[in-house]
Amino acid sequence: MRGIAGVLCLQGSSEPHLARLAELFAAGELAQPPREVRQQRDLDGLTHLILPGGESTTIRHLLDLFGMTDDLLARHRDGRLCLFGTCAGAILLAADDGTRPKRLALLDATLDRNAYGRQVDSFSEALTLELPEEHGAPTFHGVFIRAPRFTRIGPGVRVVARRGAEPVLVEAPGLLAGTFHPELTRDLRIHRHFVALKVATH
Ligand code: GLN
Repeated sequence: MRGIAGVLCLQGSSEPHLARLAELFAAGELAQPPREVRQQRDLDGLTHLILPGGESTTIRHLLDLFGMTDDLLARHRDGRLCLFGTCAGAILLAADDGTRPKRLALLDATLDRNAYGRQVDSFSEALTLELPEEHGAPTFHGVFIRAPRFTRIGPGVRVVARRGAEPVLVEAPGLLAGTFHPELTRDLRIHRHFVALKVATH
């Protein structure tokens, strides 16, 4: 069953994700054009939601302010909604480590914000990608912008991409979280992998 995918558009860089999802829709891999998610009712019927890069503290604040946090958590926990967090979005999905912002605690991993330094320390680098649908060790162009770093990864979490030995993209049931920005390249493999993640059917 093809999914219905959207991007959380409260703050941050949603446009490039919407463009990548529109390409997947045009290729027949999604049931509908991508949806801009700005309020709770935009979540209805959605199967896949991307939490984009931006400012994790601001996105969390706006999720709470608009009363969307509990609904988002419930939809994921019930198996209705797969989530993909990039950069700030990945920080939000992670387990709480006592720092701001308060995490959504859906992913058994912790992330250190701004671990590579300031905006000027942003960089791009070839990553090794370990998608189950691909063989060998394909590379992926990884763009890192004030990126966080994984500091702990729980036993049920699978590493999908690495920068050297370091995990930069991980997967758990119904979840994908990456510290870089696959939406800024025209390479659709990671978005395609995300929209193919299964939600539980009730
Ligand atoms: N530094 C940002 C934060 O901590 C994340 C940067 C990004 O999403 N590109 O929220």
